[in-house]
Amino acid sequence: MSAPDPSAVDALRRDVRGWLERALDPGWRTRMTGATTAEFVAFQREWMHSLVAAGYATPHWQAGWPGGGRSLAEQRVIAEEMARADAPRLMLYFVSLYHAALTLMEWGSEAQKARHLPAILQGEVWCQGFSEPNAGSDLASLRTRAERHGSVYRVNGQKIWSTLAHHADYCLLLVRTDTSGPKQAGISFLLMDMRSKGVTVRPIRQITGDEEFGEIFLDDVEVPVSNRLGAENEGWRVAQTTLTSERGITILELSERLHHARRRLAALLAGDDGRGGDDQYRRELVQVCARIEALRGLVAELMAEIESGQASIAKAAFVKLFYARVLREFTDLALRAAGPDAQRLAPLVLAGGHETGNWMADYMNSFVWSIAGGSNEIQRNIIAERVLGMPRDAAVAR
Ligand SMILES: Cc1cc2nc3c(=O)[nH]c(=O)nc-3n(C[C@H](O)[C@H](O)[C@H](O)COP(=O)(O)OP(=O)(O)OC[C@H]3O[C@@H](n4cnc5c(N)ncnc54)[C@H](O)[C@@H]3O)c2cc1C
Repeated sequence: MSAPDPSAVDALRRDVRGWLERALDPGWRTRMTGATTAEFVAFQREWMHSLVAAGYATPHWQAGWPGGGRSLAEQRVIAEEMARADAPRLMLYFVSLYHAALTLMEWGSEAQKARHLPAILQGEVWCQGFSEPNAGSDLASLRTRAERHGSVYRVNGQKIWSTLAHHADYCLLLVRTDTSGPKQAGISFLLMDMRSKGVTVRPIRQITGDEEFGEIFLDDVEVPVSNRLGAENEGWRVAQTTLTSERGITILELSERLHHARRRLAALLAGDDGRGGDDQYRRELVQVCARIEALRGLVAELMAEIESGQASIAKAAFVKLFYARVLREFTDLALRAAGPDAQRLAPLVLAGGHETGNWMADYMNSFVWSIAGGSNEIQRNIIAERVLGMPRDAAVAR
């Protein structure tokens, strides 16, 4: 893809900004506070359809697909404008639009792409069934078994922490098809219809009261062999596409959202209860704002590396680690600044991240970032090994 013309990128920014001014209901947070799950799903679906129609839901898709073929610079602009306008995030469709779509584009047969990509644009919801009770950080230890019987795999096992599993139509499922060799070598990647006989989903209630993810129990589930992505026992390679599909765009958008949200924090401190006059709070505010700007600088470096094809896994690890820390500090300060009334959960906006409308929930949700997508300890291991050059065995024991 050739380097984008800067004036075209500026024009895109104006277009997205103008479109958001027309299309986005500025009162959406108030409207969605305390919404039921059904209302949340309907709202997400409506917003998704608006974004698809405008071409802003799929800038990362390949050229030739609606909205696709945008450069990384253009994808950044769209993400930055969504953050600036405080537009709703597509929580319900995130796995579909990124993980499922990009894995299908790289590994899918023509029939698989034709079956699923248009359906995703219409609102097909996907979940990711990778983690298991004893296979999270060490994902390759997964034990969910798929045995081939003619034209189907028969699948038995359990997945956990699967975001949106109880809403999903389809699942990106990692299964073990061979136990004889190295653990990475015996894994296959299946596309599983969540309505198949033998699939049971149990939502997991989080400390915030939200049910963002769930367990998936698989009891003799039949998945057609034609639903396998890539060759049998090559699923580990396919899964790497899924795991790297976001290319920094999510952390960019979330950092921009933090940057804009700092005004909410400053407004809290400027309230009448006197905290704004407290030197300690003011010092902490300045410190957290400085860290947010440092985070944005790091994200910009990461994006430049990705754009030039020189992205280092260590930089990505460092950015994720730093984002988790800054988000925790930000929400912790906000929670204290908001005073005792904020110390209890209230009806939430089911928007995710530091965006629920309730500081207590935002603080609790900040812990997600120390675990999801590779825990803090795993990120530190990557930095220890790849930046500091520590030998593997000297890093934290595996
Ligand atoms: C909000 C959220 C959404 C998620 N969504 C999905 C999803 O959609 N699909 C999916 O498949 N999974 C999902 N996950 C699961 C996520 O990928 C795992 O939680 C993560 O990989 C950690 O695995 P684990 O929970 O099994 O913890 P473990 O791997 O058991 O780790 C437990 C603790 O040990 C530490 N540890 C483990 N190994 C090492 C090591 N080598 N060195 C040092 N410390 C180590 C970890 O840092 C952690 O503190 C989600 C998780 C969260 C929090």
